[in-house]
Amino acid sequence: MSFASLGLRAELVRAVSEKGYSTPTPIQQQAIPLVLEGRDIMGGAQTGTGKTAGFTLPLLHRLMDMGQQPDRRKVRALVLTPTRELAAQVHESVRAYGKHLPLRSTVIFGGVSINPQIQKLRKGVEILVATPGRLLDHAGQRTVDLSGVDILVLDEADRMLDMGFIHDIRKVLALLPKRKQTLLFSATFSSEIKRLADGLLNDPALVEVAQRNTTAERISQVVHPVDRARKRELLSWMIGANNWRQVLVFTRTKHGANRLAEQLGKDGITAAAIHGNKSQGARTRALADFKSGKVRVLVATDIAARGLDIDQLPHVVNFELPNVPEDYVHRIGRTGRAGNEGEAMSLVCVDEHKLLRDIERLLKTDIRKQVIEGYEPDPSIRAEPIQNGRRGKPAGPRGGARKSSGPRHGGHRSGAGKKGSRGNRSTRHAAR
Ligand code: AMP
Repeated sequence: MSFASLGLRAELVRAVSEKGYSTPTPIQQQAIPLVLEGRDIMGGAQTGTGKTAGFTLPLLHRLMDMGQQPDRRKVRALVLTPTRELAAQVHESVRAYGKHLPLRSTVIFGGVSINPQIQKLRKGVEILVATPGRLLDHAGQRTVDLSGVDILVLDEADRMLDMGFIHDIRKVLALLPKRKQTLLFSATFSSEIKRLADGLLNDPALVEVAQRNTTAERISQVVHPVDRARKRELLSWMIGANNWRQVLVFTRTKHGANRLAEQLGKDGITAAAIHGNKSQGARTRALADFKSGKVRVLVATDIAARGLDIDQLPHVVNFELPNVPEDYVHRIGRTGRAGNEGEAMSLVCVDEHKLLRDIERLLKTDIRKQVIEGYEPDPSIRAEPIQNGRRGKPAGPRGGARKSSGPRHGGHRSGAGKKGSRGNRSTRHAAR
């Protein structure tokens, strides 16, 4: 099957082939013809399935078909995303796929100056990619006009709800015309998502893809047992000995990410940390440096890594196991994307044996264990309680047992914390 046979216009097919894609992914094969027909979509798909092109390509096609809007200041397609990173990535896709079309687009998110965004909006854009908080700031200042939106996309809707955005989303919806085409993508379908979809979607077509392959088939996983105090040394050794050029490393806390990046630097390995406390500029820079090969190691926390689109990432290392087993699946999903083989390694110390058992129970398989010569764990070392960066308080929503937000479909996304709880408030502000 080709992109042209899905009914997409020639300019789009050309842009896709310039990106190097020849065959649509399953979600693209299903979603594109339905969106072209004008149907509302409820899409069960997570990052890595090609969902962004799945909605961006037919959205661009539809806008071209609809012709010019008389009022050029009115936004015609709105894409809402939970995080700045995802917004930036979706906008990159809009630009790449729309490069041969005369459509204008921009992206707005918090954490950066609002004025350049106002300038862009004032000139007029057909397509706007936005995080909910900053979009509402613009709406409040009347620097954006959403009354002409023909197509609405809610990307990673479950994540938006997890981050406490439901009220903001409802406020945005109130600013949109009643009649429009709506595409909702979510990795999970909790009752909250279904409630949102019920009120929003009109006779939606259900589009769902199973994960391309199970995690275990796609990604080779190994656990290296090692003492707590020797993890950093082992990591530096592994990077050097294998001559890895691009490694994504996960830590449990922001502080841990900073410290590890610093320590690797002292070992002569270029590294940058990416987490919610970093400014938007610093995060974008770190990601760009990592993608370009200027830094070899990107050290990330779970939240910062969500939705990061880094092509063909060969190695992912869990420097510390996550507290929530589903986050493990999410982390290692950063490797082996779009059909590529990937390798995920976990450095596991005695404190983390229970976390490892929980992960293996979720995966329904044992992960291979391999002790590295010279780094054999000392059996006399006793387990210590795991520090989550919030001394003296019970673990927050990212740190303790969390309830699932509902049944899972087609993927292993965690339910994350309850909205409005401490940890999520901070995340929410981070995305504004
Ligand atoms: P997404 O799920 O939208 O985050 O896409 C995951 C990755 O797959 C991105 O790096 C896309 O650029 C890539 N991709 C999207 N569509 C295709 C395709 N048809 N063939 C190969 N790769 C694709």
